[in-house]
Amino acid sequence: MTQDLFNGSSIITLDEKALQNNVAFLKKKMGPKVTISAVVKANAYGHGIEQIVPLFEKHGINHYSVFSYREAVRVYSSLSEPQPIMIMGWIPDEHMADVMRKGIEFYVFNLERLYSALACAKQCNLKARIHLEAETGMNRTGLNTDELATAISIIKENEEFFDVAGFCTHLAGAESISNHSRILKQIKKYKKMLGVLEANDIVPKYRHIANSAAAFIYPSSRMDLVRIGIMLYGFWSSIEVFVQYVNHKKNKLDPLDRVLSWKSQIMSIKEVKTGEFVSYGISYLAQSDIRTALIPIGYSLGYSRSLSNKGMVLIQGQFCSVIGVVNMNMVIADVTNVPEAEVGDEVVIIGKQSPSEIKVSAFSDSSNLLNYEVLAHLSETIHRTVIS
Ligand SMILES: *Cc1c(COP(=O)(O)O)cnc(C)c1O
Repeated sequence: MTQDLFNGSSIITLDEKALQNNVAFLKKKMGPKVTISAVVKANAYGHGIEQIVPLFEKHGINHYSVFSYREAVRVYSSLSEPQPIMIMGWIPDEHMADVMRKGIEFYVFNLERLYSALACAKQCNLKARIHLEAETGMNRTGLNTDELATAISIIKENEEFFDVAGFCTHLAGAESISNHSRILKQIKKYKKMLGVLEANDIVPKYRHIANSAAAFIYPSSRMDLVRIGIMLYGFWSSIEVFVQYVNHKKNKLDPLDRVLSWKSQIMSIKEVKTGEFVSYGISYLAQSDIRTALIPIGYSLGYSRSLSNKGMVLIQGQFCSVIGVVNMNMVIADVTNVPEAEVGDEVVIIGKQSPSEIKVSAFSDSSNLLNYEVLAHLSETIHRTVIS
């Protein structure tokens, strides 16, 4: 075990078969006409860009979405052959030229971005590969109707400097039925704006508006490309999306497999007497003589402080409660019911340890964090390794 940890106090393992299963499932559901863009922002939802991108590439993904320039460069370096990479957000001005030289695509979410892209394309004599983003009601990013008209005229005047790779928008919460009418309004607005674009003879290669939830709840939102994040990693965007999917199925099993596991080991064991407090402060009082295990992971690695006195870990296949507050580098678990537990034993924080499993969703229910947030907080310093 110690060796597996690569001298770190914990390790993240990625299950290649699970990833392969998820890619195959999504490809089958989306059909051959829809491109799947793997969303690998936030260090590939905590999985690790450098580890996950080669796996996606191997299993047939050929389009990637990121939030920032930095992430785009990491994806670019992790690919064995050039594939489309799409930046949905942040590009510092000084890196715009590098983005274009590398052929990286990017969102034009306001006119400033269009002007800076044009200036850079002229200066470098390169084409800007852009995705025009429409503001359809989320009120976050995107061109409104007037701005789109301006953008169209600029693009038409400078055709040699632009390749319109996409026309897109983002739906504000497709994973929840309570947003249904808002989403339908957004789709309608998008189609109207698309009509304006096409009436001006600008035909984007990809029309795209769907994330994981939309791709399942609103099949018409799939269009040419879907931007899939959470489901590729084996999670449903929300319980509602999962329920809606299995409702139509005879077999109620989850077709997705979790890719990520997070493991550590017992660092020390202690006996604590009745009436003693455990860890900082007075949040945990031993009500009987207990046996505790110290585990070298804490909030600095992404184990949320909100799991203090709430979280569970697996030791010898049994659920053990986290007692006391989560520290920066350590947590304490109650192993009174696992008398055979000893220093060096494997501790599963996320994942399976036969016959039990700790899912990120269980983890996040108890701390009111979304899957997304728990995953995104997993520290980049944790060693990640692929299991084939
Ligand atoms: C994160 C993101 C996605 C992917 O969302 P999932 O729910 O993880 O599938 C798609 N589009 C945009 C613009 C995003 O920011």
